This record gives sequence, C-alpha cells and structure tokens, in this order.
Amino acid sequence: MTAAGVPDVQTFDTRAIQELDAAHFLHPFTDHAALRDKGARVIVRGQGVYLWDSEGRQLIDGMSGLWCVNVGYGRTSISQAVYRQMETLPFYNSFFNTTNVPAVHLAAELVALAPPQFSHVFLTGSGSEANDTIVRMVRRYWDILGQPERQVIISRQNAYHGSTMAGASLGGMAGMHAQGGLPIPGIRHIGQPHYAEQGQGMSENAFGLVAAAWLEEEILALGADKVAAFIGEPVQGAGGVIIPPATYWPEVQRICDKYGILLVADEVICGFGRLGTWFGSELMGMRPDLISFAKGVTSGYVPLGGVLVGKRVAHALVEQGGDFHHGFTYSGHPVACAAALENLRILRAERLVEKVALETGPHLKAAFNQLATHPLVGHAESCGMMAGLNLVRVKGATAHACVPFARALHVGMLCRGHMFDNGVIMRAVGDRMIVAPPLVMTRAEIDDMAARIWDCLDLTLADVKARGWM
Ligand SMILES: *Cc1c(COP(=O)(O)O)cnc(C)c1O
Repeated sequence: MTAAGVPDVQTFDTRAIQELDAAHFLHPFTDHAALRDKGARVIVRGQGVYLWDSEGRQLIDGMSGLWCVNVGYGRTSISQAVYRQMETLPFYNSFFNTTNVPAVHLAAELVALAPPQFSHVFLTGSGSEANDTIVRMVRRYWDILGQPERQVIISRQNAYHGSTMAGASLGGMAGMHAQGGLPIPGIRHIGQPHYAEQGQGMSENAFGLVAAAWLEEEILALGADKVAAFIGEPVQGAGGVIIPPATYWPEVQRICDKYGILLVADEVICGFGRLGTWFGSELMGMRPDLISFAKGVTSGYVPLGGVLVGKRVAHALVEQGGDFHHGFTYSGHPVACAAALENLRILRAERLVEKVALETGPHLKAAFNQLATHPLVGHAESCGMMAGLNLVRVKGATAHACVPFARALHVGMLCRGHMFDNGVIMRAVGDRMIVAPPLVMTRAEIDDMAARIWDCLDLTLADVKARGWM
C-alpha cells in the first residue's frame, strides 16, 4: 500500500483478461452472450470496504462481496492463520474416526455462540451443501423416530437456499425451478411475508399473522403427519432484503410447535452479526431446531458452511441413529476452520455485532430514510446491515400507494449500471436496490456510500426521464 492507502500500481491488460474470460469461464447466474458483449468487470484488489478494478477505479462495496466479507478486505491475521494451518496440516479428512484440531475448536466455538438449544455442528463447504445436508438430516431424523412418512419440507416462494439440486428445490425461485426439473419431490412452497407486495389494506402486524397462517393451511392440507420441517431465512436476502413483520416468526414458531414440525433457519446471510445479533433468529423470535450457515462464518476468505444441530435432532442422530450416510471430503477442512476461528475472533475483539446493533445499523437506517426522500424512491427499509429501496414511477405516501415502473423496462438494472460506473456496488432485484455492506463499514463510510447512491439515483432519474418513462 502507498501512504495514501491506495493499492500499489499494478497494470492489467483488461481487454485480454475479458477476452479469455469470455472464451473459457462460465460464470454463475450469467447470460454469457450479453457478458461477452460488455466484457466482465475485473476486480483485482480489496482493502477495508473498498475494491479496485483492473482500470484502477475504486468502488465502495455495498454488498460485502456476496453478503459475506463481514470483516472487510485485507485482514492480514486471517491470511496468516490460513498460511500457518497450510504449513502444519493443509488437509485431513474427518471420516474414519479421525478429527483435526481447528475443526474441533470451531465446532465448540460455534456451539458456544449459538442459542442455548444447540449442541452440535456438521461442517460443509458451502451454504448449498449445508441445506442439502438439512434435507437429508431432517428426513433421517423422522426415520429414526419411526415416522418415515414425515418427508415434506415446506419453504417459501422467492426464498434462496442455494443452487444444488436440494438447495434450488428448497428455494422458491421460479427461474431456477424451470431449469433442470425442479423442485425435487417432497418440497412445497407457500407465500413470502412481503408486506409491500401483499399486505395491501392491512397493518404490517396483521399481515404478519396472515402470512404465518399460510403455513398452517399448508400443514393441514398435507396432513401434519407428512410434514418434516419448515425452512426460512430470518430476513430474505437474494429475494430482495424482505424484512418480515414482527408478528411473523413468533407465529410461525407457534405453528411449528403445535404440530411438532422442525423449524430450520437459513442463516447463511443473517448469521454472524448481519442483523446486530449473532444469529438472525435471535432478533426475530425464532427458536430453530437447525441453522444452516456459510458466508460470514469465514467472511468469505475461504469457503466454509455448516449446520448447527439442536439437541432435539442431535440426540436422535447421536444416541439412536447409528451411521448417518452423509458427508463431504471437505467437511471440517482444517484451513477453512482456521480462517473461521480467526474471523470469529475479529468479530468478538472488535465488538462488531454490538456495533451493528447500536451504531452502524441505526446509521444505515437513517441513511436509507434519507435516500427515501429522493424523487425516484418509493420506500426504503433496513435491518442491521441490510437495506433496500424501491425505484418507483410515482411516489406515494405509503409503499402501497406508489406506482411501479413496468417490469420490462428493467429500471433496476439501469440504476445498477450507473452505480457500478460511479463507484458503488449495489444489487438490483427487479426495481429494488439492495445493500448488505461489510460490518466494519464506519459511519463516515456509510455516508460516503449513501452520497454516491444519491448521485446515481439522480443519474438514473435523468436517464429514465430522457427515455420518456416518467
Ligand atoms: C448464498 C446463500 C446460500 C447458498 O450458499 P452457497 O455458499 O452459495 O452455496 C444459501 N442460503 C442463503 C440464504 C444464501 O444467501
């Protein structure tokens, strides 16, 4: 680094990299013909909450990479922990009655951080593998208990639970289901608790109870003795930062308890401080039996995921179940576990979870309330270090009174382009613009991000007017 905090100059032949990229690299969730025409943005370096591309442009990372770089970029202590572990023992498996020291310490540490009902952890390489594990574990649990007909897992439309066969099936993304013959059997989807879209004419809390009642209707339609579990993200992430009404999760919990159904919290985004609590379930009034996690557990420095297993399921698996025929080569990978241990140490040492709850989360909320006064913005919401705002054609006094743009105009993508070109990474989900910044983002950096967002909203507004869309 130079004295000014700017990365050392390193030159890249951007065009050549883009051509090689287009020729050989298939990206996730990408229209490759479109990408080839534009050329991929080449990110070469990160420090704190900032990134630099191959042209030397600086960007503020409103998305923590992909909801994961919670402690920010350039953490030398994580790279050192990884290096030390690679030198000592880069890999050993945890099959065949063996274990390794970082995996054991991480399991103990995760259980200590988790709500009190948790006793064990199963480690995977990603969030998708964690949710695949959950499908198998939940069905195995009911097998062990002598109720093998309890097979169905209920999830929600527009949920995101990963991209493996089971992960994509649990998820409620219609575009994903349309490719590859999904969902797999035994997965059902109910509506999501999306007040702005579905709560017209109701108070938010009344709508929360209505949305939770969809679960009970589905359980009764299937027969409670067929239902294994309900899974949900405490706050939906990829679906567009959809924050449920306060009444929703406590009512879902009551319904799960009433029918003896397992509750699964997918905390791949919400876990490890994103909402100002170690786990989002704690904030939302959920008491899950299982938690899937990934992303923030290592801040994305090395891939790692897993399932926290509550005593109810752990008891059956450990005391009654015998061999569970499931696992991955990289379950408990020592290098990934070493990265996670150092990442968790940083979160604790810098009190980042408390900081989100008391300082930066409220500051982000104030910034988004301010952005909501922009003529292009209908409404804005936030929870901890996640926030979203809706681009609308006509502003209204409430979310329900706003008039959206026609979907086919893709105003969100237009806005995202202006953001990228002007130094801020924000994601578009339809016409909802979302952020989930690193938990280390300071108040001054939040102000910097919000100022850039405001300018890009101005550019988008001018663009939309010039096209005659407004
Ligand atoms: C990202 C994500 C996943 C999938 O994790 P991968 O590591 O990409 O497999 C699952 N659930 C949620 C809520 C996610 O955001």
